[in-house]
Amino acid sequence: MNKNKSYAGIDYFRMIAALLVITIHTSPLLSFSEIGDFILTRVIARVAVPFFFMTSGFFLISRYTRNTEKLKSFVRGTLQIYGIAILIYIPINAYNGFFSGNNLLPNILKDIILDGTLYHLWYLPAAVLGGSIAWYLVKKADYTRAIVITFGLYLIGLFGDSYYGIAEKIPVIHSFYDLIFQVTDYTRNGIFYAPIFFVLGGYIAEHPKKLSSVQSVGGFAVSLGMMLGEALTLHYYDLQRHDSMYLFLLPCMFFLFHALLHCKGNRFRLFRTSALVIYIMHPMVIVGVRLIAKILHMQNLLVNNSLIHFFVVSLASAAIGITAAEIWNRCDIGKRKRIPDTDRAWIEIDLNNLEHNARELQRAMPPKCSLMAVVKAEAYGHNAFTVSAHLNKIGVKSFAVATIDEGIALRKYGIRGEILILGYTDVHRVRDLKKYGLMQTVVSFEYAQALNQQNISVKIHIKIDTGMHRLGIPYDNFSEVKKVFAMRNLNVCGIYTHLCCSDNLLPDDIAFTEEQVNRFYRLIELMKHNNIPVPKLHMQSSYGLLNYPNLQCDYARIGIALYGVLTTPDYNTALKLDLRPVLSLKTRVVHIQNICKGESIGYGRAFTAERDSRIAILPIGYADGFPRNLSCGKGYAQIGNQLAPIVGRICMDQLAVDITEIEGIAIGDTAIMIGFDAAEELSAPIVADNSNSISNELLCRMGARLPVIERLVP
Ligand SMILES: *Cc1c(COP(=O)(O)O)cnc(C)c1O
Repeated sequence: MNKNKSYAGIDYFRMIAALLVITIHTSPLLSFSEIGDFILTRVIARVAVPFFFMTSGFFLISRYTRNTEKLKSFVRGTLQIYGIAILIYIPINAYNGFFSGNNLLPNILKDIILDGTLYHLWYLPAAVLGGSIAWYLVKKADYTRAIVITFGLYLIGLFGDSYYGIAEKIPVIHSFYDLIFQVTDYTRNGIFYAPIFFVLGGYIAEHPKKLSSVQSVGGFAVSLGMMLGEALTLHYYDLQRHDSMYLFLLPCMFFLFHALLHCKGNRFRLFRTSALVIYIMHPMVIVGVRLIAKILHMQNLLVNNSLIHFFVVSLASAAIGITAAEIWNRCDIGKRKRIPDTDRAWIEIDLNNLEHNARELQRAMPPKCSLMAVVKAEAYGHNAFTVSAHLNKIGVKSFAVATIDEGIALRKYGIRGEILILGYTDVHRVRDLKKYGLMQTVVSFEYAQALNQQNISVKIHIKIDTGMHRLGIPYDNFSEVKKVFAMRNLNVCGIYTHLCCSDNLLPDDIAFTEEQVNRFYRLIELMKHNNIPVPKLHMQSSYGLLNYPNLQCDYARIGIALYGVLTTPDYNTALKLDLRPVLSLKTRVVHIQNICKGESIGYGRAFTAERDSRIAILPIGYADGFPRNLSCGKGYAQIGNQLAPIVGRICMDQLAVDITEIEGIAIGDTAIMIGFDAAEELSAPIVADNSNSISNELLCRMGARLPVIERLVP
């Protein structure tokens, strides 16, 4: 994501955009030049509202958005503001005779949902509707499709707006728009107008810095010029029904937004609330200024001179906006007491360490070999989405998962690059393999035949069994391998094997591993001999790389080492890399009690206090993946920089630790159960070892119930 520093331009432009909206409603140049006024208010100022939509899209929409919380809170917030605005403007609605019109109920509905209950308020329902449409399109499809669809909607809108004069002349289309205009007064709304700007905002957020500042500003200037030409032409031929939508508005906004991202500086959040208040309140200010001018008999000066009128309205609106924003900030209104995700127990992922490990591992590989990040089992409990999205951003292009559903989930998150499924997939799911661009491992010759018979071409890697006897075609069965290459629907992209004792440097294990390697290479030689084009080769996993770094392959499939730990506390590998643990498991003290000597704690009374003790209860248990094996003193929590032993049996959702010897512990204090910045006893390999397991199992069992918090220092 962009660094905060690059949002200064956006913050400042909010204010400019709010003032541009005021120009639309006050026509400052009208007293001097009609065409000047047209250019200012009907062309230039038309960037204001799309800018607000794009800004919302920029912060709201992302293919990496997994849950609907972000959308919900945006919709909720906007609707609240809309509700308040509707109430504020009821007197003006009443004054305008709104409530004495015919068809009151349908009109109210139509206005609330599409047109806004007063002319400028359409923006708020449009933001809700447009934002939601864009959010779903980007989430369900991808940017390309979302842009195509929202552009289609925009085109429909365009011909009901600035280009209506053309649509009107074609009978079929004319009746189509007649239909639309029964339901809404404008096509400039949340369906036809807003979505594309939301999508563009999200797109730019995820593809930052594609354009230099010169390109952005130049592109903006050219597009604005083209838009001006477009608007004047349409105006000249009297084609406009309304004048919000232009074709060149799209490139204009695209370049403008990029240009704003190039404005570096400190953020100015005050303008965010101010701009919104100005937007909502300025029509009220206009009414107020007119009223005061009338009372003071100063209409000539304050109202009839359009420029002075504009300045008075702008100044008054800005004063109200900034004051309201200040009060809002001071009183903490709106800063709803958000319950953080760290209220019970959580996983912290240090993305800087992940990035460091990825680079460190890549550096250890031979030049033509690249990292295939193994992100199966929720990236070993680290959250597949968080890990893969960050690796994608730093340029990792190959991933491996265990199951097809893990692969599909990654694609739905928007992960790009190759995804190899290491395990078995039912051949009837071949359509999904193709649809989501996944590569399937051929786990046996029979499997290859069955997959080929589905008559859908798929990318595969052939697995060779060189001695592990788990999956794969036996290394000495060259004729089967050859046949797989000849299968019509199987596009062989890779061939690989798995080493079963590369983690051990005992002589027997080294000999066995070398034999596995030789068997694999002999098969490859045989392929070359038979003029079979050699696809990508790979055989090392973490220990394969750490103990046999010089094997010549195209990929190394790295899992556990990427997460900065090794399987066991024995760190004796041929290659010693600076790997940094990525995951911490943390929780909070929720209850403290004093126990007298002789009293017991927990199920089965497995612990009896041998002295008067102070006991803290931590709301984490084996349902969170924290092993029950660590009960009764085999595990620890680090509280206040000291280790507190676990007492009694670990429950499904809680455990107790003895804090008698630790001073000053209070409810709410953080306790580390596994940690990259904690005592050595709390490193994953040692915690795993204490529970008679290995890091891989310990880590991958975590996360089902725990929120994952990312840490990333830019
Ligand atoms: C899980 C897995 C890996 C990754 O192993 P690590 O030891 O975690 O690096 C590599 N290859 C295959 C086939 C796997 O199943």
